[in-house]
Amino acid sequence: MLEKEEPITFEEALSLTELPREQVPDLIALARKVTLKYRGDGVFLRSIISARTGNCPEDCAFCSQSAHYDTGIKTHPFMATEKILMAAKQAEKLGAMDFCIVISGRGPTPKVFRKVLEAVDLLRKETNLKIGCSLGELTEEQAFALKEHGVWRYNHNLETCRSYFPRICTTHTYEDRLRTAKLVKKAGMQLCSGGILGMGESVRQRIEFAFELKELDPSWVPINFLNPRPGTPLGHLPLVSPFEAVKTIAIFRLILPDKIIMAAGGREVTLRDLQAMGLLAGANAMILGNYLTTLGRSPEEDLRMLDDLQMPVRKDVP
Ligand code: SF4
Repeated sequence: MLEKEEPITFEEALSLTELPREQVPDLIALARKVTLKYRGDGVFLRSIISARTGNCPEDCAFCSQSAHYDTGIKTHPFMATEKILMAAKQAEKLGAMDFCIVISGRGPTPKVFRKVLEAVDLLRKETNLKIGCSLGELTEEQAFALKEHGVWRYNHNLETCRSYFPRICTTHTYEDRLRTAKLVKKAGMQLCSGGILGMGESVRQRIEFAFELKELDPSWVPINFLNPRPGTPLGHLPLVSPFEAVKTIAIFRLILPDKIIMAAGGREVTLRDLQAMGLLAGANAMILGNYLTTLGRSPEEDLRMLDDLQMPVRKDVP
């Protein structure tokens, strides 16, 4: 694959999921070479803030922010912009290059959208961070307004493959998600789109998902691993095993050679002692610090891991 630069086929990717344990190090080595060839060395660091948490009318089965489930999370309306600024400055100090404002809900109301733009303006004035957003579904007008205010990247995950999506959400469709993802590209922002593995999908569906992402062609692909939340319909599912997770990252790298693959939510609880292997297997971006409703490990631990791996933190704009 590396020499001929031939893209991996669906069947080849599927057969890699059955690779015997003793051959997985070879797969990881290949994935590392592909990362270096297509994306160079180093890791991009992003920090995220849940600027509005909970009370979401959607019923995504993995999500503790859905009002359909009794998950006991602490909800809050859109937070004060000064608080967002404080978090952004802290993230910048730790080495993040990208800061993402995230809100719960299907999409922003005009009032919330105005507040987001205010926050974006403030952050762009007071920091050197690249500002991203994840606000759910957008109208065309909103997508262009974000771009105009300097938002460089927008996250809108497909969550899972088309064939499994109806099992995960009934209040909106896979096509709804695709619509916003495509709108982001039309407005000229970088698209960040990935999903969550370990939600009960089959191994074949994971590969389907990776190929659907390839077709969508986002710049960034966050791979989350389900961290089962008590009270949600998926709360009883087991974690993906660390070994399986590393293997899957490597296969995603081969399918998506030129994307920035981000090890996102569920990384710590899933990969456990194999954190560093996830980076060697092809992840070249990480979320630093906490997630939306769960805690990450300390940024210092992650920075030390990068240091130990001799992987530079990247500040260039991909
Ligand atoms: S994933 Fe987003 S849209 Fe779905 S329930 Fe959670 S906050 Fe709402």
